[in-house]
Amino acid sequence: MKKQSLISNFFKRKFQENDDIGLTPSSNIDDGIQENVDIGPSSNIDNDMQENDDIGLNIPSASSPSIRNTIDLANLPSDPSDRPPIASYHPNQIDDIRRAYLVKKAFQPRGHDFKWTNYSSGRRRFNVKWFDKYDWLEYSTKQEKAYCLCCYLFNESVGNQGGREAFVSGGFCNWSKPGALKKHVGLLNSFHNKVAQKCNNLSNQKRSCDAKITEHSKEEKIANQY
Ligand SMILES: [Zn+2]
Repeated sequence: MKKQSLISNFFKRKFQENDDIGLTPSSNIDDGIQENVDIGPSSNIDNDMQENDDIGLNIPSASSPSIRNTIDLANLPSDPSDRPPIASYHPNQIDDIRRAYLVKKAFQPRGHDFKWTNYSSGRRRFNVKWFDKYDWLEYSTKQEKAYCLCCYLFNESVGNQGGREAFVSGGFCNWSKPGALKKHVGLLNSFHNKVAQKCNNLSNQKRSCDAKITEHSKEEKIANQY
């Protein structure tokens, strides 16, 4: 029983934290939270726990996405091919994970010996200059494919059109068609531009929080001088 109330407190605390920093999650994230509230600790589980000594089988395991709460933000997978889908993380942690990736910036291994591919027109490979042009562009050294950080971070939040795209789902490796990078960005209202804006908003939110903390600590220092 104690465990259940601790878990409930965890959820409550997380919601409060989100309120405090003025997050305005997208409708899908709201849905995600709602779903987890629905499948979270319920009176049915309480009953089961009372009736059955073997309670371990009746509550979600630690590996369940709804309970998993020990993500080490400093050790998130760097190579795009090692990352689980962003939606597989707990909804309460997704924004922290997004911020951590935005701070790290796109995975751009500039010193990598990019793999050549033979085409009828000759051999081609990833051009490191593309990193300068596109700050969202990432390269998986394990798969020798290119990905988009913004589209990874918000893949589930702006419809499904991004999920079928090479830079998000399977990775891009047709080096004979570099025009695909520009095409990925697309027009003003494209999926990529929408999620890039979401990335900017999240980064700015963090900066304004940092600025507030600095302001507070300055005030405290001044107050402590008197
Ligand atoms: Zn993108």
